[in-house]
Amino acid sequence: MKAVPNFWFEPAPWIDGQWRRGTEEISVPNPATNQSLAMVTRADAGLIHEAIEGAERAWANWKHRSPVDRGGILKRTAALMIAKREELAVLLSAEQGKPYAQGLGEVDYAASFFQWFGEEARRSYGRIAAHPEAEREFFVEHKPIGVAGLITPWNFPLAQGAKKIAAALAAGCTAVWKPAERTPLIALAMAPILAEAGLPPGVLQIAPGRGSVVGKIFAEHPAVRVLSLTGSTATGSSLMADAACQIKRVSLELGGNAPFIVLPDADLEFTAEHLLRLKLFVSGQVCVTANRVFVHETIETEFLEILSHKMEQSVVGNGLAEHVDAGPLIHRQACQDVGALVSQALTAGAKLVCRNTSFERDPSLKEGSFYPPTLLSNVQDSMPIASHEIFGPVIPVLRYKTVADAIRRSNETPYGLAGYVYGHDMTNCRAVARELEVGIVGVNEWRPLKAEIPFGGIKQSGIGAEGGEEGLREFLCTQVISMPKPFLER
Ligand code: ADP
Repeated sequence: MKAVPNFWFEPAPWIDGQWRRGTEEISVPNPATNQSLAMVTRADAGLIHEAIEGAERAWANWKHRSPVDRGGILKRTAALMIAKREELAVLLSAEQGKPYAQGLGEVDYAASFFQWFGEEARRSYGRIAAHPEAEREFFVEHKPIGVAGLITPWNFPLAQGAKKIAAALAAGCTAVWKPAERTPLIALAMAPILAEAGLPPGVLQIAPGRGSVVGKIFAEHPAVRVLSLTGSTATGSSLMADAACQIKRVSLELGGNAPFIVLPDADLEFTAEHLLRLKLFVSGQVCVTANRVFVHETIETEFLEILSHKMEQSVVGNGLAEHVDAGPLIHRQACQDVGALVSQALTAGAKLVCRNTSFERDPSLKEGSFYPPTLLSNVQDSMPIASHEIFGPVIPVLRYKTVADAIRRSNETPYGLAGYVYGHDMTNCRAVARELEVGIVGVNEWRPLKAEIPFGGIKQSGIGAEGGEEGLREFLCTQVISMPKPFLER
């Protein structure tokens, strides 16, 4: 069992390079045991205002720093994170519940965004455009938009922050980061790392606080020019409404209902292995996880057999223990919500194929927030489990007859975040992938998200993109200067 390291940070807001005491103290539990890891003080409204105003002051210098300098600080941050990856991964695992190995993966993934945007910082190009009048020309420049308000969820508490922070800072913005209520520790753990990398005070403020309170202040404070949220669609809609008052830019990465299509020629062993890894990843609490698994009728029986065998072999337990495939859910309420979707499905005619309760063998976990990985067949499109984001380790299998039918049903959702296609014939796989109304498709790949590419949803899954060259644009605004053209006297 991994031990939680001594904290190298204070469990309190980090503002203008100082630890500040908030007014309200909250306990942060390990969801595997529900024992408290720390008491964290939250930033109240006064401190959030201070954080925004400090970030505005810091912007005056930061926006004029050379992009190579800004990028250098981000790349040093990536290197320092990698040097501290074990401690960060243990903290992630303790606070969020994910297995330690997944924590290591998240640290590497988060660091890759600091590395990527550290490199991209110097690649913000403007242009000179032709003016209709011969004696003038246009200068088109992309400039940092201002202070960014960043709000992140608890499922990837480090990586979701890293994606936004690295892009905002590379673009020349300063930012106030509000981590999720459940997972403030990993965010605060980044403060000394960023300071050691050379980030000046005030450029990134880290302010744990209540979502609705902080969201409103971000929306109302005129210095905040862009709101970037990763969260549920309901929260995105509410933040967008708040932001409408001052016509603020929003960048939203919201919920999904990803289809996972298993084509008749798929390698079933390989596909089942990938599907299980995808669904056990953060115990299914991932917006891009497979939410509806469409399996062709001719391969369903064999696929269910392979999948249930693999599910039975998995180990569910404390993320800090050795050889654990899946950890707990974030809290008890989450277990009840997932349980309600499964019960409704069973009542409506779904069949229970497999349930893995391996965590029950360990008495130290009896207070933990565990939900057994569950495989359901005979799931129908009309069941709530097929239309709601499950956010738990449940695999609902829906049978299909024709590929055209699977595609049509895949798109019958207000969400459009991710999709997966598994099959042998690549031309066919690509044709199916192109029909899916989603922002990203993995063909024979369960984790296509990387720093190098833009990731963002369509329909009610969001606005904007994170990663890739597109990620910078969320934090830039365009200015055109119309100038007289210089001519040599003849
Ligand atoms: P989840 O259901 O995954 O917890 P939420 O959308 O509730 O997703 O939370 C994601 C982030 O949004 C968290 O940091 C949370 O504090 C914040 N949040 C919640 N409600 C609001 C709101 N009304 N305005 C702004 N941020 C919010």
